[in-house]
Amino acid sequence: MPRSTTARIDLDALRNNYRAACERAGSAKTMAVVKADGYGHGIARIASALSDVAPKYAVACIEEAVAIRAAGLFQPVVLLQGVHAADDFADCVHRNFEPVLHVEHQLDWLEQGGYAPDVWLKVNTGMNRLGFRPDDLPAVMARLEKMSAGAKLQGFVGHFACADDASSPMTAAQTATFETATSPWPLLMKSVGNSAAHFIPGQPLFDWSRPGIMLYGGSPIVGKTGPDLGLEPVMTLEAPLITTRVVKAGESVGYGGAWVAERDTRMGMVAIGYGDGYPRHAGTDTPAAIGGRRIRLIGRVSMDMLAVDLSNAPEAGEGDLVELWGRTVGVDEVASCAGTISYELLTGITSRVPRTSY
Ligand SMILES: *Cc1c(COP(=O)(O)O)cnc(C)c1O
Repeated sequence: MPRSTTARIDLDALRNNYRAACERAGSAKTMAVVKADGYGHGIARIASALSDVAPKYAVACIEEAVAIRAAGLFQPVVLLQGVHAADDFADCVHRNFEPVLHVEHQLDWLEQGGYAPDVWLKVNTGMNRLGFRPDDLPAVMARLEKMSAGAKLQGFVGHFACADDASSPMTAAQTATFETATSPWPLLMKSVGNSAAHFIPGQPLFDWSRPGIMLYGGSPIVGKTGPDLGLEPVMTLEAPLITTRVVKAGESVGYGGAWVAERDTRMGMVAIGYGDGYPRHAGTDTPAAIGGRRIRLIGRVSMDMLAVDLSNAPEAGEGDLVELWGRTVGVDEVASCAGTISYELLTGITSRVPRTSY
C-alpha cells in the first residue's frame, strides 16, 4: 500500500479563481497560464478543468503545449518563450501554437522556414530579460511585414518587473513605455497583465490578461496571502504521521540537533520531506495543521520526513493526516517561513507525490 502523502487538487477552487481573474480583467480576455506542469498541479488536469471557460492557454515551451494537445484540448496555446529551433514553427502552424518572438534569430528562422504561424512580439519595456527594445520595433515590424509567407502577428506582449509591489512606480512606467512603443499599430492586440497586475487599481490589461499563480490560489502580491485577495487554495499537500514519541526536556530532534526540547514534548514524524519538494529552509515554527488545528514544525526538514510538535493536538496519532499547506495553513505562509514564494513551493513538488483531483 502506498504512503498517503498526496497533493489533492480542488478543481472547483481553480475554476473560481479563474472566474475571479476574468472579473478583474474586465473587458480583456484571459488566457490561463499553465506552464511548469500547471504550477505543479498537473498540466493536463488543470487545462482540462478550464477547457470550457478558457479561450487560450499560455506555457513556457513547446513540450508543454504538446502536453495540452495530448490531453485532447484544442484551444490556441501561446509559447511565452517562443521556439528553440527553426523547425518548431512547422509544429506551431500545424498544432495552433502561438509563439512569442523575442529575439533576432527567431525572426531569421521564420524568414527561412516559410511557415506562417500566429505570433506575438515581445516588447522589452524594462524587465530586460527578453524582447525587442521600443526603438527596434519599427525595423522588426518591417521585417515581419516583408516575410513572403506572412507570419500572422496577433499583437504585442510586455511583462512587469515589479507588479507584486503596488507602490512601485515601475509598473506605470513600463505600461507607458509599452503603449507608446505599440501606438503606431493600434489594430494589433496587446497583453501585459500577469496575476499581480489584476490587483493594481486602474492598471490597464488591454486585450488579453495572463494570470498564472492566482489561478492556483497563490498570492502575487508581497505581504498578502491568496485568501487575503479572495483566492481559494487549490492544492492541499498532506502526509501521514508515521510515529509519535515524547522527547524529553534537553533532548534534540533530527539532523544537527537543530531543535532542543525545553520541556517534555510529544512530537510526531510526518512522511514528507525535501525529496517530495517540501522546502528544507522551512525551519522550526513553520505552521502545519492536523484536524483543522494549527501545529508547528520542529528541527530540520529531512529528505523523507519532518518533525512536528503535537502539543496543540494531543489526540493526534499514527496514520492521521497532517496538512502541510491547504485551507488551514496557506502555501504563502509556508513560503514566507522558507524565505521564498508560493510559486517555487507549488512548482517544486516532486513526482514522488501523487496528485489527485476532486
Ligand atoms: C509566468 C508568466 C505569467 C504568469 O505570471 P503569474 O505571476 O504567475 O501570474 C505571465 N506572463 C509571462 C510572460 C510569464 O512568464
